[in-house]
Amino acid sequence: MDESFDVVVVGGGHAGTEAAAAATRLGARVALITHRLDTIGVMSCNPAIGGLGKGHLVREIDALDGIMGRAIDRSGIHFKVLNRSKGPAVRGPRAQADRALYRKAIRQLLEQQDRLVLIEGEVADVSVDRARASGVVLSDGRRFACGAIVLTTGTFLRGMIHVGQRREPGGRIGDAPALALADRLQSLNLRLGRLKTGTPPRLDGRSIDWAGIEMQPGDSPPEPFSTLTEAITLPQIACGITRTTVMTHAIVEAGLPHSAMYSGSIQGRGPRYCPSIEDKIVRFGDRDSHQIFLEPEGLEDDTVYPNGLSTSLPENIQARMIASIPGLEKARILRHGYAIEYDFVDPRELEPSLELRNLPGLFLAGQINGTTGYEEAAAQGLVAGINAARRAGGSDGAVFPRTESYIGVMIDDLTRRGVSEPYRMFTSRAEFRLTLRADNADFRLTDRGIALGCVGATRSRHFQDKKRILNRFAAVLRDIAATPQDVAAIGKSVNADGMRRDGFRLMASGEIRLRELVPLAPALADCPDWAAESLETEARYSVYLARQREDIARLERDRGLLLPDELDYREMGGLSAELRGKLHAIRPRSIAEAADIEGMTPSALVFLAALARRLSSGSRGEDSHAA
Ligand code: FAD
Repeated sequence: MDESFDVVVVGGGHAGTEAAAAATRLGARVALITHRLDTIGVMSCNPAIGGLGKGHLVREIDALDGIMGRAIDRSGIHFKVLNRSKGPAVRGPRAQADRALYRKAIRQLLEQQDRLVLIEGEVADVSVDRARASGVVLSDGRRFACGAIVLTTGTFLRGMIHVGQRREPGGRIGDAPALALADRLQSLNLRLGRLKTGTPPRLDGRSIDWAGIEMQPGDSPPEPFSTLTEAITLPQIACGITRTTVMTHAIVEAGLPHSAMYSGSIQGRGPRYCPSIEDKIVRFGDRDSHQIFLEPEGLEDDTVYPNGLSTSLPENIQARMIASIPGLEKARILRHGYAIEYDFVDPRELEPSLELRNLPGLFLAGQINGTTGYEEAAAQGLVAGINAARRAGGSDGAVFPRTESYIGVMIDDLTRRGVSEPYRMFTSRAEFRLTLRADNADFRLTDRGIALGCVGATRSRHFQDKKRILNRFAAVLRDIAATPQDVAAIGKSVNADGMRRDGFRLMASGEIRLRELVPLAPALADCPDWAAESLETEARYSVYLARQREDIARLERDRGLLLPDELDYREMGGLSAELRGKLHAIRPRSIAEAADIEGMTPSALVFLAALARRLSSGSRGEDSHAA
């Protein structure tokens, strides 16, 4: 053996870097082995972090002292909270990054970790000793022993790049695929599948006619992802918005027989929620225009990422397609779009700790488990890193329940339901959406992280201070006992029922803000803005939270309700087309079976349970519960 470590992490992408950082925070001695050290933290596709559902994951990673939130705060050049006008549960913090600065920030954050060694090389084999993973072998013959391994190989396992009818092996453009390791995984009798994803062409910003393009600024001031970031200090840029035209659609449609995605040369399934332009034009044939965001890739980089134009059309058709879009008539293509097809491991092979059921000591995280996206990868990396360090130290796996975090929702979905297409996070996947907000991620998870040993002293201190402040003002609110007359005296009104109300009850309707209660409780004048917002949100959601808990309890009771075999799901309103198709094909016999269908959402289950109850109440008293 060349050297021995507690944990070896294979891959320097978003899962691998988070896994390595987490395992070192737990005290493990870690080696991160990756093809090229200069590609650590590379964003293979869009230069952005966060978004709907994904932003929640980044906040949760940060709450557990992960690095993604701090890295995007150091490199973000356009921050925007999506869905700001909607309720706090579905708001999604998002930021575009300066690609080079993001990579640099990840590298710096890793280099600050003691006990972490970065090694360049290709892992070709996993050693097994007495039915446990015990080390890795590199293609150049080096061998490293360890107590646990985390594989985070992304799109590299037997990666195949497609541009039109041309195909060449590659893990992403400019990088070789991982072939030997894919063969090794196959020899372990793991269920492997094929998935695909794609990326748009990159444009030279200097050749874009910006004059006619609508510009969209980010939020001012920008809201950081990490609770440890006081302010965003990088200059902020605007991004452009243009649209495809009837001409674009005609070009793409005529090119479909030459597109790798449509000509049948790619077998793997692609991400329905991140569709290629070919997909969009076929699936939404009634629309004659789609929005395209022109996102600059850096402060000192002229490359522009046209978000919404992912494609695997041949290069000449890509050029015509770009030229048909307003503002891009003369745009120069710096790199053509392409699709990539790769192996993934069926995540039902994994325990909720992300350790393989059949090979203790081997953990998988990221795109290798059938997910797509940097945030999904990083969140799994964090969990796998924590558990690999625990495994190497002889402890049991730590599991994150779906009731407490989006991380838990994702891992439960993956390991219980599996995937048939690249899995990405959405807020609709969580039944406890109102509790699992991006704004309270630290209150949900940091104490747990401290107990697990993955939260460092700085964050721990910062969090205890935050908790003290919030508890102090929550107590002030609870101590208010305002009569309707007191409320009238501050210019507001409540039912004249003679009842006294505390501050939370007063703010529950959303019509009274915390600051307006200062005349009733002068101590509230010192409440910082973030705490005021958090307490107002808790107050407004308290009624719904109670209702949500009842819904969930009811759903648990309803798991045994039967769904008659003759139900015709195809025409059923209240369900998405995707779920109608799956229910029609799978024909679950009970609500419990329906719950295990991939992509099943909590609201669809509530709908099905209500239907089953209605049908059973009309079924002449026969036993309507499954055995
Ligand atoms: P990666 O970031 O791919 O990192 C894998 C790492 O493992 C690399 O550093 C690689 O060098 C290393 N590695 C692999 N095998 C070995 C080995 N045997 N030995 C040593 N090192 C190894 N996501 C979206 O959300 N939306 C999109 O539209 C989208 N489009 C994409 C388009 C393309 C063309 C590609 C390539 C990816 C796209 N993605 C998209 C996916 C996104 O890039 C991934 O989800 C994310 O990077 C996954 O992170 P990861 O850590 O699992 O893997």
